[in-house]
Amino acid sequence: MKLSSKNLHERLETVYDAIVVGGGMGGLSAAIYLARYGLKCLVIEKGKGRSLWMQDLRNYVGLDPHTPGRDILNHGTKTSLDWGADHLRGYVEEVTDEGETFAVKVKVGKQNSIYPVFRSKYVIAASGIIDNLPQLEDMQNVYDYAGYTLHVCMICDGYDMWDQKAVLIANTEGQIGAAFVLNWFTPYISVLTHGLCTVSDKTKQKLAEHGYPLYEAPIAKFLGENHQLSGVELTDGTIVEATTGLVGMGSVYHNQYLKGIEGLEWDGQNLVTNDMCKTSHDRIFALGDLKKGLNQVSIAVADGTLAATQIWRNIRRASPPRKWEE
Ligand code: FAD
Ligand code: FAD
Ligand code: FAD
Repeated sequence: MKLSSKNLHERLETVYDAIVVGGGMGGLSAAIYLARYGLKCLVIEKGKGRSLWMQDLRNYVGLDPHTPGRDILNHGTKTSLDWGADHLRGYVEEVTDEGETFAVKVKVGKQNSIYPVFRSKYVIAASGIIDNLPQLEDMQNVYDYAGYTLHVCMICDGYDMWDQKAVLIANTEGQIGAAFVLNWFTPYISVLTHGLCTVSDKTKQKLAEHGYPLYEAPIAKFLGENHQLSGVELTDGTIVEATTGLVGMGSVYHNQYLKGIEGLEWDGQNLVTNDMCKTSHDRIFALGDLKKGLNQVSIAVADGTLAATQIWRNIRRASPPRKWEE
Protein backbone atom coordinates (compact mmCIF):
# COMPACT_ATOMS: atom_id res chain seq x y z
CA MET A 1 0.00 0.00 0.00
CA LYS A 2 1.22 3.48 -0.82
CA LEU A 3 1.41 5.42 2.45
CA SER A 4 1.15 9.19 2.83
CA SER A 5 0.42 11.65 5.61
CA LYS A 6 -3.28 10.86 4.99
CA ASN A 7 -3.24 7.12 5.71
CA LEU A 8 0.04 6.33 7.47
CA HIS A 9 -1.65 6.28 10.89
CA GLU A 10 -3.13 2.91 9.83
CA ARG A 11 0.37 1.44 10.10
CA LEU A 12 1.60 3.00 13.32
CA GLU A 13 0.63 -0.09 15.35
CA THR A 14 2.14 -2.50 12.83
CA VAL A 15 5.41 -4.23 13.63
CA TYR A 16 6.94 -4.70 10.20
CA ASP A 17 9.24 -7.63 9.58
CA ALA A 18 11.60 -5.21 7.87
CA ILE A 19 11.83 -1.50 7.17
CA VAL A 20 13.92 -0.68 4.12
CA VAL A 21 15.55 2.74 4.32
CA GLY A 22 15.92 3.91 0.73
CA GLY A 23 13.86 2.79 -2.23
CA GLY A 24 16.65 2.80 -4.80
CA MET A 25 18.16 -0.12 -6.66
CA GLY A 26 19.03 -2.29 -3.67
CA GLY A 27 16.07 -1.31 -1.51
CA LEU A 28 13.49 -2.09 -4.18
CA SER A 29 15.11 -5.44 -4.92
CA ALA A 30 14.96 -6.27 -1.20
CA ALA A 31 11.31 -5.18 -1.05
CA ILE A 32 10.34 -7.39 -3.98
CA TYR A 33 11.92 -10.44 -2.34
CA LEU A 34 10.60 -9.63 1.15
CA ALA A 35 7.07 -9.17 -0.16
CA ARG A 36 7.24 -12.43 -2.11
CA TYR A 37 8.39 -14.23 1.05
CA GLY A 38 5.14 -13.01 2.59
CA LEU A 39 6.95 -10.67 4.99
CA LYS A 40 5.54 -7.29 5.99
CA CYS A 41 7.86 -4.58 4.75
CA LEU A 42 7.89 -0.82 4.38
CA VAL A 43 10.15 1.05 1.97
CA ILE A 44 10.88 4.66 2.93
CA GLU A 45 12.30 6.79 0.12
CA LYS A 46 13.19 10.48 0.35
CA GLY A 47 13.39 11.15 -3.42
CA LYS A 48 16.29 12.64 -5.44
CA GLY A 49 18.57 9.68 -4.80
CA ARG A 50 21.68 8.70 -6.72
CA SER A 51 20.05 6.25 -9.10
CA LEU A 52 17.49 8.89 -10.10
CA TRP A 53 20.31 10.94 -11.69
CA MET A 54 21.61 7.93 -13.59
CA GLN A 55 20.53 8.85 -17.13
CA ASP A 56 21.58 5.56 -18.71
CA LEU A 57 22.23 2.23 -17.03
CA ARG A 58 24.89 1.06 -19.44
CA ASN A 59 26.05 -2.27 -18.07
CA TYR A 60 23.11 -4.26 -16.73
CA VAL A 61 22.51 -7.50 -18.55
CA GLY A 62 19.12 -7.69 -20.26
CA LEU A 63 18.37 -3.98 -20.06
CA ASP A 64 18.75 -1.57 -22.95
CA PRO A 65 21.88 0.53 -22.25
CA HIS A 66 19.78 3.70 -22.44
CA THR A 67 17.52 2.65 -19.59
CA PRO A 68 17.29 5.59 -17.16
CA GLY A 69 17.39 5.02 -13.41
CA ARG A 70 14.09 6.89 -13.13
CA ASP A 71 12.28 4.18 -15.13
CA ILE A 72 13.72 1.41 -12.97
CA LEU A 73 12.69 3.26 -9.80
CA ASN A 74 9.13 3.73 -11.06
CA HIS A 75 8.88 0.15 -12.24
CA GLY A 76 10.45 -1.32 -9.10
CA THR A 77 8.25 0.78 -6.82
CA LYS A 78 5.11 -0.31 -8.64
CA THR A 79 6.18 -3.96 -8.68
CA SER A 80 7.00 -4.03 -4.97
CA LEU A 81 3.63 -2.42 -4.19
CA ASP A 82 1.90 -5.02 -6.37
CA TRP A 83 3.51 -7.86 -4.39
CA GLY A 84 2.32 -6.26 -1.15
CA ALA A 85 5.08 -4.01 0.15
CA ASP A 86 4.23 -0.64 1.72
CA HIS A 87 5.93 2.48 0.37
CA LEU A 88 6.25 5.92 1.93
CA ARG A 89 7.82 9.10 0.59
CA GLY A 90 9.74 10.48 3.55
CA TYR A 91 13.15 11.05 5.09
CA VAL A 92 14.42 8.66 7.79
CA GLU A 93 15.91 10.79 10.55
CA GLU A 94 16.71 8.27 13.23
CA VAL A 95 16.72 4.58 13.98
CA THR A 96 16.63 3.46 17.62
CA ASP A 97 17.26 -0.10 18.75
CA GLU A 98 14.57 -1.08 21.25
CA GLY A 99 15.82 -4.65 21.68
CA GLU A 100 13.18 -6.74 19.91
CA THR A 101 12.24 -3.96 17.53
CA PHE A 102 13.59 -0.82 15.95
CA ALA A 103 11.84 2.55 16.12
CA VAL A 104 12.25 4.36 12.81
CA LYS A 105 11.51 8.07 12.95
CA VAL A 106 10.52 9.59 9.64
CA LYS A 107 10.09 13.17 8.48
CA VAL A 108 7.12 13.30 6.11
CA GLY A 109 6.59 16.42 4.01
CA LYS A 110 9.29 19.01 3.49
CA GLN A 111 6.84 21.67 4.66
CA ASN A 112 4.46 21.26 7.59
CA SER A 113 6.35 18.09 8.31
CA ILE A 114 5.04 15.34 10.56
CA TYR A 115 7.30 12.85 12.32
CA PRO A 116 5.70 9.40 12.57
CA VAL A 117 7.57 6.49 14.14
CA PHE A 118 7.31 3.04 12.55
CA ARG A 119 8.46 -0.24 14.08
CA SER A 120 10.18 -3.27 12.62
CA LYS A 121 12.11 -6.38 13.59
CA TYR A 122 14.81 -5.76 10.97
CA VAL A 123 16.23 -2.67 9.26
CA ILE A 124 17.76 -2.76 5.80
CA ALA A 125 20.02 0.24 5.23
CA ALA A 126 19.73 0.86 1.50
CA SER A 127 20.12 4.64 1.51
CA GLY A 128 23.24 4.83 -0.65
CA ILE A 129 25.41 7.85 -1.24
CA ILE A 130 25.35 10.98 -3.41
CA ASP A 131 28.30 12.33 -5.32
CA ASN A 132 29.59 15.79 -4.49
CA LEU A 133 29.44 18.04 -7.53
CA PRO A 134 31.37 21.27 -8.08
CA GLN A 135 29.36 24.09 -6.53
CA LEU A 136 28.76 26.92 -8.96
CA GLU A 137 26.50 29.91 -8.50
CA ASP A 138 24.34 28.48 -11.26
CA MET A 139 23.85 24.83 -10.28
CA GLN A 140 21.56 24.27 -13.25
CA ASN A 141 24.67 24.68 -15.44
CA VAL A 142 26.25 21.73 -13.57
CA TYR A 143 23.06 19.63 -13.70
CA ASP A 144 22.85 20.20 -17.49
CA TYR A 145 25.91 17.94 -17.86
CA ALA A 146 26.22 15.88 -14.66
CA GLY A 147 25.10 12.33 -15.35
CA TYR A 148 25.09 12.90 -19.12
CA THR A 149 28.62 13.62 -20.40
CA LEU A 150 30.05 14.74 -17.06
CA HIS A 151 30.28 11.41 -15.27
CA VAL A 152 30.71 10.48 -11.61
CA CYS A 153 31.57 6.79 -11.92
CA MET A 154 34.50 5.49 -13.92
CA ILE A 155 33.39 1.87 -13.71
CA CYS A 156 29.98 2.85 -15.09
CA ASP A 157 31.03 5.28 -17.76
CA GLY A 158 34.77 4.95 -18.46
CA TYR A 159 33.92 3.19 -21.71
CA ASP A 160 31.89 6.19 -22.82
CA MET A 161 34.93 8.43 -22.36
CA TRP A 162 37.17 6.32 -24.60
CA ASP A 163 39.95 8.43 -26.19
CA GLN A 164 37.96 11.64 -25.72
CA LYS A 165 39.32 14.87 -24.32
CA ALA A 166 38.30 14.70 -20.70
CA VAL A 167 38.43 16.85 -17.60
CA LEU A 168 38.99 15.25 -14.22
CA ILE A 169 37.57 17.48 -11.49
CA ALA A 170 39.26 16.60 -8.21
CA ASN A 171 39.01 18.31 -4.84
CA THR A 172 41.88 16.55 -3.07
CA GLU A 173 45.34 15.46 -4.05
CA GLY A 174 44.22 11.85 -3.52
CA GLN A 175 41.38 12.25 -6.03
CA ILE A 176 43.85 13.57 -8.61
CA GLY A 177 45.29 10.06 -8.56
CA ALA A 178 42.17 8.97 -10.47
CA ALA A 179 43.86 10.43 -13.57
CA PHE A 180 46.26 7.50 -13.54
CA VAL A 181 43.34 5.06 -13.60
CA LEU A 182 41.17 7.04 -16.02
CA ASN A 183 44.03 6.86 -18.52
CA TRP A 184 43.04 3.24 -19.12
CA PHE A 185 40.07 4.74 -21.00
CA THR A 186 41.58 7.98 -22.33
CA PRO A 187 45.00 9.63 -22.04
CA TYR A 188 43.69 13.10 -23.01
CA ILE A 189 43.09 14.26 -19.46
CA SER A 190 43.08 17.81 -18.08
CA VAL A 191 42.98 17.97 -14.30
CA LEU A 192 40.87 20.73 -12.68
CA THR A 193 40.98 21.44 -8.96
CA HIS A 194 38.29 24.14 -8.99
CA GLY A 195 40.55 25.95 -6.54
CA LEU A 196 39.75 23.40 -3.83
CA CYS A 197 43.17 21.94 -3.03
CA THR A 198 46.83 22.63 -3.31
CA VAL A 199 48.87 20.25 -5.39
CA SER A 200 52.27 19.01 -4.27
CA ASP A 201 55.32 19.27 -6.53
CA LYS A 202 55.48 15.49 -6.68
CA THR A 203 51.95 15.22 -8.11
CA LYS A 204 52.57 18.15 -10.45
CA GLN A 205 55.63 16.38 -11.76
CA LYS A 206 53.79 13.09 -12.24
CA LEU A 207 51.00 14.85 -14.16
CA ALA A 208 53.59 16.65 -16.29
CA GLU A 209 55.38 13.38 -17.03
CA HIS A 210 52.10 11.94 -18.31
CA GLY A 211 51.38 15.12 -20.28
CA TYR A 212 48.20 15.91 -18.31
CA PRO A 213 47.73 19.67 -17.87
CA LEU A 214 46.69 20.93 -14.43
CA TYR A 215 44.36 23.93 -13.98
CA GLU A 216 43.99 25.31 -10.48
CA ALA A 217 41.61 28.22 -11.14
CA PRO A 218 37.98 27.75 -10.12
CA ILE A 219 35.43 26.73 -12.75
CA ALA A 220 33.21 29.56 -14.04
CA LYS A 221 30.89 27.43 -16.15
CA PHE A 222 30.49 24.33 -18.26
CA LEU A 223 30.15 24.86 -22.01
CA GLY A 224 28.14 22.85 -24.52
CA GLU A 225 24.56 22.14 -25.46
CA ASN A 226 21.94 19.40 -25.13
CA HIS A 227 23.88 17.85 -22.21
CA GLN A 228 26.90 17.42 -24.52
CA LEU A 229 29.97 19.02 -22.97
CA SER A 230 32.34 20.95 -25.25
CA GLY A 231 34.59 22.57 -22.66
CA VAL A 232 35.00 24.23 -19.30
CA GLU A 233 35.49 27.96 -18.77
CA LEU A 234 37.60 28.90 -15.76
CA THR A 235 37.32 32.12 -13.76
CA ASP A 236 40.66 33.32 -15.12
CA GLY A 237 39.18 33.18 -18.63
CA THR A 238 40.93 29.98 -19.70
CA ILE A 239 38.82 27.61 -21.78
CA VAL A 240 39.67 23.92 -21.41
CA GLU A 241 38.43 21.87 -24.33
CA ALA A 242 36.72 18.62 -23.35
CA THR A 243 33.80 16.54 -24.60
CA THR A 244 33.53 14.53 -21.41
CA GLY A 245 34.55 14.63 -17.77
CA LEU A 246 34.74 12.77 -14.51
CA VAL A 247 33.89 14.34 -11.17
CA GLY A 248 36.03 12.87 -8.40
CA MET A 249 35.01 14.94 -5.41
CA GLY A 250 33.94 12.29 -2.93
CA SER A 251 30.41 11.59 -1.76
CA VAL A 252 27.90 12.24 0.98
CA TYR A 253 27.00 8.98 2.71
CA HIS A 254 23.34 8.67 3.69
CA ASN A 255 24.06 7.05 7.05
CA GLN A 256 23.23 9.72 9.64
CA TYR A 257 20.18 7.85 10.94
CA LEU A 258 22.39 4.91 12.01
CA LYS A 259 24.90 6.92 13.99
CA GLY A 260 23.08 6.25 17.28
CA ILE A 261 23.29 2.46 16.91
CA GLU A 262 25.99 0.86 19.00
CA GLY A 263 28.24 -1.89 17.73
CA LEU A 264 27.98 -1.18 14.02
CA GLU A 265 31.23 -1.80 12.24
CA TRP A 266 32.22 0.88 9.74
CA ASP A 267 34.98 1.11 7.19
CA GLY A 268 35.21 4.85 6.77
CA GLN A 269 31.58 5.77 6.02
CA ASN A 270 30.72 2.35 4.56
CA LEU A 271 29.06 -0.38 6.56
CA VAL A 272 30.93 -3.65 6.81
CA THR A 273 28.76 -6.71 6.10
CA ASN A 274 29.06 -10.47 5.80
CA ASP A 275 28.30 -12.32 2.56
CA MET A 276 24.52 -12.11 3.22
CA CYS A 277 24.75 -8.33 3.71
CA LYS A 278 24.29 -8.53 7.49
CA THR A 279 26.17 -5.86 9.38
CA SER A 280 27.85 -6.47 12.73
CA HIS A 281 24.37 -5.89 14.24
CA ASP A 282 22.24 -9.06 13.91
CA ARG A 283 19.10 -7.20 12.83
CA ILE A 284 20.59 -4.56 10.54
CA PHE A 285 21.49 -5.33 6.95
CA ALA A 286 23.20 -2.99 4.49
CA LEU A 287 23.13 -2.94 0.71
CA GLY A 288 24.63 -1.36 -2.33
CA ASP A 289 26.64 1.84 -2.25
CA LEU A 290 26.34 2.22 1.54
CA LYS A 291 28.03 -1.09 2.20
CA LYS A 292 31.66 -1.77 1.52
CA GLY A 293 32.17 -2.97 -2.04
CA LEU A 294 31.58 -2.05 -5.64
CA ASN A 295 29.09 0.75 -6.35
CA GLN A 296 27.05 -0.80 -9.13
CA VAL A 297 23.37 -1.44 -9.74
CA SER A 298 24.01 -5.16 -10.33
CA ILE A 299 25.62 -5.43 -6.90
CA ALA A 300 22.88 -3.48 -5.11
CA VAL A 301 20.17 -5.63 -6.71
CA ALA A 302 21.95 -8.86 -5.72
CA ASP A 303 22.51 -7.47 -2.20
CA GLY A 304 18.75 -6.89 -1.87
CA THR A 305 18.15 -10.54 -2.75
CA LEU A 306 20.68 -11.76 -0.17
CA ALA A 307 19.50 -9.55 2.69
CA ALA A 308 15.82 -10.34 2.16
CA THR A 309 16.54 -14.06 1.96
CA GLN A 310 18.57 -14.08 5.17
CA ILE A 311 15.84 -12.14 7.01
CA TRP A 312 13.24 -14.61 5.75
CA ARG A 313 15.39 -17.53 6.92
CA ASN A 314 15.76 -16.02 10.38
CA ILE A 315 12.04 -15.31 10.75
CA ARG A 316 10.98 -18.64 9.25
CA ARG A 317 13.29 -20.64 11.53
CA ALA A 318 11.85 -18.85 14.58
CA SER A 319 8.25 -19.49 13.48
CA PRO A 320 6.14 -22.59 14.25
CA PRO A 321 5.73 -24.95 11.29
CA ARG A 322 2.49 -24.67 9.32
CA LYS A 323 0.63 -27.96 9.64
CA TRP A 324 -2.14 -29.26 7.37
CA GLU A 325 -5.02 -28.88 9.75
CA GLU A 326 -8.69 -28.86 8.84
P1 FAD B 1 20.44 4.22 -4.54
O1 FAD B 1 19.94 3.60 -5.80
O2 FAD B 1 21.06 5.56 -4.60
O3 FAD B 1 19.25 4.20 -3.51
C1 FAD B 1 19.35 4.78 -2.23
C2 FAD B 1 18.05 5.52 -1.97
O4 FAD B 1 17.97 5.91 -0.60
C3 FAD B 1 17.96 6.83 -2.76
O5 FAD B 1 16.86 6.75 -3.65
C4 FAD B 1 17.81 7.92 -1.71
O6 FAD B 1 16.91 8.93 -2.10
C5 FAD B 1 17.31 7.15 -0.51
N1 FAD B 1 17.67 7.74 0.79
C6 FAD B 1 18.87 8.20 1.20
N2 FAD B 1 18.82 8.63 2.47
C7 FAD B 1 17.54 8.43 2.89
C8 FAD B 1 16.87 8.67 4.11
N3 FAD B 1 17.49 9.18 5.17
N4 FAD B 1 15.56 8.38 4.18
C9 FAD B 1 14.89 7.85 3.10
N5 FAD B 1 15.49 7.60 1.91
C10 FAD B 1 16.81 7.87 1.83
N6 FAD B 1 25.70 1.93 -11.82
C11 FAD B 1 25.77 0.96 -12.74
O7 FAD B 1 25.77 -0.21 -12.37
N7 FAD B 1 25.82 1.25 -14.06
C12 FAD B 1 25.79 2.52 -14.53
O8 FAD B 1 25.83 2.75 -15.75
C13 FAD B 1 25.71 3.57 -13.57
N8 FAD B 1 25.70 4.85 -13.97
C14 FAD B 1 25.59 5.84 -13.02
C15 FAD B 1 25.48 7.15 -13.46
C16 FAD B 1 25.32 8.18 -12.55
C17 FAD B 1 25.20 9.60 -13.02
C18 FAD B 1 25.26 7.90 -11.16
C19 FAD B 1 25.07 9.00 -10.16
C20 FAD B 1 25.36 6.58 -10.72
C21 FAD B 1 25.53 5.55 -11.64
N9 FAD B 1 25.62 4.21 -11.25
C22 FAD B 1 25.67 3.22 -12.19
C23 FAD B 1 25.70 3.84 -9.81
C24 FAD B 1 24.34 3.37 -9.29
O9 FAD B 1 23.41 4.44 -9.41
C25 FAD B 1 24.48 2.96 -7.84
O10 FAD B 1 25.55 2.06 -7.67
C26 FAD B 1 23.18 2.27 -7.35
O11 FAD B 1 22.08 3.14 -7.52
C27 FAD B 1 23.34 1.89 -5.88
O12 FAD B 1 22.13 1.40 -5.39
P2 FAD B 1 21.71 1.68 -3.88
O13 FAD B 1 20.41 0.98 -3.68
O14 FAD B 1 22.84 1.39 -2.99
O15 FAD B 1 21.53 3.27 -3.82
P1 FAD C 1 18.33 15.94 0.44
O1 FAD C 1 19.69 15.70 1.02
O2 FAD C 1 17.70 14.81 -0.28
O3 FAD C 1 17.36 16.47 1.56
C1 FAD C 1 17.69 17.61 2.35
C2 FAD C 1 16.79 17.60 3.56
O4 FAD C 1 15.43 17.71 3.14
C3 FAD C 1 16.86 16.33 4.38
O5 FAD C 1 17.87 16.38 5.32
C4 FAD C 1 15.46 16.24 4.98
O6 FAD C 1 15.41 16.97 6.16
C5 FAD C 1 14.61 16.88 3.95
N1 FAD C 1 13.93 15.95 3.07
C6 FAD C 1 14.39 15.38 1.92
N2 FAD C 1 13.48 14.59 1.38
C7 FAD C 1 12.41 14.64 2.19
C8 FAD C 1 11.12 14.02 2.17
N3 FAD C 1 10.77 13.19 1.18
N4 FAD C 1 10.26 14.31 3.16
C9 FAD C 1 10.60 15.16 4.15
N5 FAD C 1 11.79 15.78 4.23
C10 FAD C 1 12.68 15.52 3.27
N6 FAD C 1 19.59 17.77 -8.24
C11 FAD C 1 18.68 18.50 -8.84
O7 FAD C 1 17.88 19.14 -8.14
N7 FAD C 1 18.62 18.57 -10.20
C12 FAD C 1 19.48 17.87 -11.00
O8 FAD C 1 19.38 17.93 -12.24
C13 FAD C 1 20.49 17.07 -10.38
N8 FAD C 1 21.39 16.34 -11.11
C14 FAD C 1 22.32 15.57 -10.46
C15 FAD C 1 23.20 14.79 -11.21
C16 FAD C 1 24.14 13.97 -10.59
C17 FAD C 1 25.09 13.13 -11.41
C18 FAD C 1 24.21 13.95 -9.18
C19 FAD C 1 25.23 13.11 -8.49
C20 FAD C 1 23.33 14.72 -8.43
C21 FAD C 1 22.37 15.52 -9.06
N9 FAD C 1 21.44 16.27 -8.32
C22 FAD C 1 20.51 17.05 -8.96
C23 FAD C 1 21.33 16.07 -6.86
C24 FAD C 1 21.80 17.20 -6.06
O9 FAD C 1 23.20 17.24 -6.11
C25 FAD C 1 21.28 16.97 -4.65
O10 FAD C 1 21.81 15.79 -4.09
C26 FAD C 1 19.79 16.82 -4.55
O11 FAD C 1 19.12 17.77 -5.33
C27 FAD C 1 19.47 16.98 -3.08
O12 FAD C 1 18.10 17.07 -2.91
P2 FAD C 1 17.51 17.72 -1.60
O13 FAD C 1 17.72 19.16 -1.59
O14 FAD C 1 16.13 17.18 -1.47
O15 FAD C 1 18.48 17.19 -0.46
P1 FAD D 1 22.66 -20.08 -16.29
O1 FAD D 1 21.83 -18.87 -16.55
O2 FAD D 1 22.02 -21.43 -16.26
O3 FAD D 1 23.83 -20.07 -17.37
C1 FAD D 1 24.77 -21.14 -17.47
C2 FAD D 1 24.94 -21.43 -18.98
O4 FAD D 1 26.08 -22.27 -19.17
C3 FAD D 1 23.75 -22.16 -19.54
O5 FAD D 1 23.18 -21.37 -20.59
C4 FAD D 1 24.32 -23.48 -20.07
O6 FAD D 1 23.77 -23.89 -21.30
C5 FAD D 1 25.80 -23.14 -20.24
N1 FAD D 1 26.73 -24.28 -20.10
C6 FAD D 1 26.76 -25.22 -19.14
N2 FAD D 1 27.78 -26.06 -19.31
C7 FAD D 1 28.46 -25.64 -20.41
C8 FAD D 1 29.63 -26.10 -21.11
N3 FAD D 1 30.35 -27.14 -20.66
N4 FAD D 1 30.00 -25.44 -22.21
C9 FAD D 1 29.30 -24.37 -22.65
N5 FAD D 1 28.19 -23.89 -22.04
C10 FAD D 1 27.78 -24.52 -20.94
N6 FAD D 1 15.92 -17.13 -10.73
C11 FAD D 1 15.42 -15.95 -10.29
O7 FAD D 1 16.19 -15.08 -9.83
N7 FAD D 1 14.09 -15.67 -10.35
C12 FAD D 1 13.21 -16.55 -10.90
O8 FAD D 1 12.01 -16.25 -10.96
C13 FAD D 1 13.71 -17.79 -11.41
N8 FAD D 1 12.89 -18.71 -11.96
C14 FAD D 1 13.41 -19.85 -12.53
C15 FAD D 1 12.54 -20.74 -13.20
C16 FAD D 1 13.02 -21.86 -13.80
C17 FAD D 1 12.08 -22.77 -14.55
C18 FAD D 1 14.42 -22.16 -13.73
C19 FAD D 1 14.96 -23.39 -14.39
C20 FAD D 1 15.27 -21.30 -13.06
C21 FAD D 1 14.78 -20.14 -12.45
N9 FAD D 1 15.61 -19.23 -11.76
C22 FAD D 1 15.10 -18.04 -11.30
C23 FAD D 1 17.03 -19.51 -11.50
C24 FAD D 1 17.91 -18.85 -12.54
O9 FAD D 1 17.60 -19.32 -13.84
C25 FAD D 1 19.40 -19.14 -12.20
O10 FAD D 1 19.67 -18.84 -10.85
C26 FAD D 1 20.31 -18.32 -13.07
O11 FAD D 1 20.05 -18.52 -14.44
C27 FAD D 1 21.76 -18.66 -12.75
O12 FAD D 1 22.65 -17.97 -13.63
P2 FAD D 1 23.95 -18.68 -14.10
O13 FAD D 1 24.65 -17.72 -15.00
O14 FAD D 1 24.68 -19.23 -12.91
O15 FAD D 1 23.47 -19.97 -14.92
